[in-house]
Amino acid sequence: MAVELDKLPKEERLERLRHSASHVMAEAVLATFPDAKLAIGPPIDTGFYYDFDLPRPLTMDDLQVIEERMRESIARDHPFAQTLVSKEEARRLFGHQPYKLELIDELSDEEVSTFRHGEFVDMCAGPHADRTGQVRAFKLTSVAGAYWRGDERRPMLQRIYGALFETAEELDDYLRKLEEAQRRDHRRLGRELDLFSFHEEYGPGLVYWHPKGGRVRTICEDVWRQEHLKAGYDLVYSPHVGKAALWETSGHLDFYRENMFPAMDAEGQEYFVKPMNCPFHIQIYRSSTRSYRELPLRLAELGTVYRYERSGVLHGLMRVRGFTQDDAHIFCRPDQLEDEIVRAVDFGLYFLRLFGFQDYQVYLSTRPEKYVGDLEQWDRAIEALREAVESRSLPYEIDEGGGVFYGPKIDIHVRDAIGRAWQLTTIQFDFNLPERFDLAFIGQDGREHRPYMVHRALLGSMERFLGVLLEHYAGAFPLWLAPVQAVVIPISDRHVEYAGWVAGELRAAGLRVEVDERSERMQAKIRDAQLQKVPYMLVVGDKEEAAKAVAVRLRSGEDLGPLHIEEFLLRAVDEVRERR
Ligand SMILES: [Zn+2]
Ligand SMILES: [Zn+2]
Repeated sequence: MAVELDKLPKEERLERLRHSASHVMAEAVLATFPDAKLAIGPPIDTGFYYDFDLPRPLTMDDLQVIEERMRESIARDHPFAQTLVSKEEARRLFGHQPYKLELIDELSDEEVSTFRHGEFVDMCAGPHADRTGQVRAFKLTSVAGAYWRGDERRPMLQRIYGALFETAEELDDYLRKLEEAQRRDHRRLGRELDLFSFHEEYGPGLVYWHPKGGRVRTICEDVWRQEHLKAGYDLVYSPHVGKAALWETSGHLDFYRENMFPAMDAEGQEYFVKPMNCPFHIQIYRSSTRSYRELPLRLAELGTVYRYERSGVLHGLMRVRGFTQDDAHIFCRPDQLEDEIVRAVDFGLYFLRLFGFQDYQVYLSTRPEKYVGDLEQWDRAIEALREAVESRSLPYEIDEGGGVFYGPKIDIHVRDAIGRAWQLTTIQFDFNLPERFDLAFIGQDGREHRPYMVHRALLGSMERFLGVLLEHYAGAFPLWLAPVQAVVIPISDRHVEYAGWVAGELRAAGLRVEVDERSERMQAKIRDAQLQKVPYMLVVGDKEEAAKAVAVRLRSGEDLGPLHIEEFLLRAVDEVRERR
């Protein structure tokens, strides 16, 4: 039964419009490329897409042609009409469409639902808009490669994305944000600023950090280590591989194997590269009998792990196969629980603020239907998480039953400079591993007790975090994080020597400085430094040399004029210290 579109709730209405637009797009693609093979075309959060097997790669000009054809179909205001046909009839109808035939073969029902608008028929269960004329505020935005069924062994198709909203204003607003997001895309910035690269041919999802990217990462890691030591953590290092027995005891081979790289064989023994650090930190805990006096034990490691992800889902630094977690495991007594959680939350917030995030949202996930551990432990842990969040007046939502089977957790999401949310911090209880590895401490009563165990990562992983940071700052890192903090630009060759002296003075004060000695014009050098998002450009000529000064320009284009080198140094060193 057709429902009038206007009477539906907005979300549902949008979903129908978006999905209907994908039908109209498939019609237009088929009109443009009669040999096109159609895959699937669902609605998504901001619009729709459809996957096609086409004779050649699409260009932006093609998208324009397709969009115009879509508008023609919309102008004709075709109704969407459903017909149920037998499987046999469907096979005849889609005989020239191999992907549709594959889908038909997998249907359990004998009847196949098809929808027609105008001359175009697609296999689809619906629902749709009533008529094509209802599809209005949309725009085709991009083309990307996508494997058929997300499987890298199947053909690579072309996915056309479209944006669709109810009003032209909403669409424009979205397109502006999209453009801003593209300007900030960390993959593009990573290339332009020479921070990192990927080498698909030697393994997808594996990051190669270049000198400048390595510098930013080192700064982050250094401050991470210093702060962890101050906060009472111990820094540890653990192996990258472990025998099957370890992963059997931890349970990873049972419930996590599909995310692990395949086993390797050495001397007839199976080894696995680690997908997590926890089992190793547990061995460190178990290496001696622990007394109640030694707890809490907080073991922290920038631990590099490898997880198998299908190559089709990898995405720049955000989703990779090898990454370094800013990991820690806290082992504590029951009476230390509340205090440890508050500390972990505060510590997480400290880092988020340090790196320039001001807006947080916390999600607390509670006990799912299937769980391990006893109820009293669960309740106590959930209470500790809730109290910690409330004591810091953080806005939070409860995801009832959304915890993992081994313990409740809180996740902290931040909003970046253009309002997008990213999950960074996670603090998670574990009632499973202490049982499996039979962890204990000797209490004041001389008896063995089970410690509480908490996994926590504050930034998540260094790879993803640096991707988020890059997009947050659009590559213009604050001074303390910038890989190159200042470029000294001699006006002509005779000022190169003075430029070298200036650079030496700044380096001696701990600043990261380069001299641009190329025989380019000064304006070109300034522009290049701006494109590289270097915070300070220090121009030096005769006047500056005579006054032991530098003419200071900011990457924003602002001109601060000449400053004596001591004066500039004070300003820069202060700025780094304040971590603005
Ligand atoms: Zn449909
Ligand atoms: Zn862990």
